[in-house]
Amino acid sequence: MMRKEIAELSEQYKHIFEECADRIWATPEINFTEHQSHATAMKCMKDLGFEISMLEDMDTAFIATAGHGSPVIGILGELDALPGLSQKADVDHYEPAENGAPGHGCGHNLLGCGGMECAYILWKYFEAHNIEGTIKYFSCPAEEGGVGKVYMIHRGAFDDVDFCVNWHPGSGFGIAHEAKSIVLQNYRFHGVASHAAGSPEMGRSALDALELFNIGIQFVREHMTKDTYIHYAITDTGGRAANVVQAYAEGQYVIRAKDNTELKAMMKRVDKIAKGAAMMTETEVDEPEIVSAFSSFVDNTTLADVARENIKECMPMQYTEEEMEYLKKFIACGSKADTGELIDEEIHEDRPSSTDVADVSWVVPTVMINVPTWAIGTPGHSWNITAQGKSAPAHKGMNLAAQIMANIALDMMDKPELIEKAKEELKTNLKGRTYETECLIPKDKKPVPIY
Ligand SMILES: [Zn+2]
Repeated sequence: MMRKEIAELSEQYKHIFEECADRIWATPEINFTEHQSHATAMKCMKDLGFEISMLEDMDTAFIATAGHGSPVIGILGELDALPGLSQKADVDHYEPAENGAPGHGCGHNLLGCGGMECAYILWKYFEAHNIEGTIKYFSCPAEEGGVGKVYMIHRGAFDDVDFCVNWHPGSGFGIAHEAKSIVLQNYRFHGVASHAAGSPEMGRSALDALELFNIGIQFVREHMTKDTYIHYAITDTGGRAANVVQAYAEGQYVIRAKDNTELKAMMKRVDKIAKGAAMMTETEVDEPEIVSAFSSFVDNTTLADVARENIKECMPMQYTEEEMEYLKKFIACGSKADTGELIDEEIHEDRPSSTDVADVSWVVPTVMINVPTWAIGTPGHSWNITAQGKSAPAHKGMNLAAQIMANIALDMMDKPELIEKAKEELKTNLKGRTYETECLIPKDKKPVPIY
């Protein structure tokens, strides 16, 4: 009965959120610059009657609140796009809408509006049944590397929340149990400039140091756990003239590890390599600047179990013939082109991701699900996703995600002991650690765009 009513509410109001998602799709903006998308989403929630609050130094984040009393249910949403993934809607080959412009290549236009829809239908359900409870929709900026949620945690946004639900668009159903810890940091080397032929003995090359640093990193790869990755980009070579010894060089390094403990240990090793490279070249290296950092995910099986039951109710995904024809165009250009699979019939629970939702999982019991919105075999972060971002299957997935999240919340409220159990589980899984001591981003750091 409850699920049927939630489905009916979604049917009644879905046009509001589909329209909002399409509008956000058309104004793709990257980390911490989501001004138009933010204004669109905030106006939508305000017009629906939600109370809006803002956070210090975060002009593209907002919290929309409705209902009253306990429990407090958190719904997480994102709106940011990705650089360079502009693409014309519904076109099944690469054809940017605007060359070099950003695009919704991760489906966050759907992610955000699906969360908003969940918040609204849940509120309507509370009203219809006189249910006590507060709904908080968190519009979180800069998930793609900028870790907006970390700054929201530091500003106390989630302090009164009992549990959080979240989803991500995808090509199948899923529940996240893992996310890697990640740090993105800059290393800067300083040397001495000199004429490369006239007085080479006077020069100390920062670029040599950076190159040796990278060579050291290639050698350490053999001695890392299989869960650890290091990626790098040379962001400043120090100059374009080969006959000058480069006095400055800079690189950006991303380290991924299973959890925060392994990440911190790896960061120390990378640091030693940087210092070694500086010593070899008689240059100096600054302490690395941490630009952003994601925590690992604290799994909550209490919430995941409730999520699984609700996902099962909706499987397999039902498409009309027309929708299936649409999806087939994109299946043909994805990784499942030759398998003959048209829809994914499993709930995937073994796909680790990297997201700042994981940071929230340290402070509030949190569940993250996946719901299909695009063709099976569609690569992540791609023009293919941008192309499918305002299609009928995308809308269908978004509306379904809103319903599943609302049903998870209602199931948890129906048995308040589950909320307590989820909280206890979080406490147990933290093993005495706190977010404050584990988070690599200092509390007083202000949000900055990472690209
Ligand atoms: Zn994403």
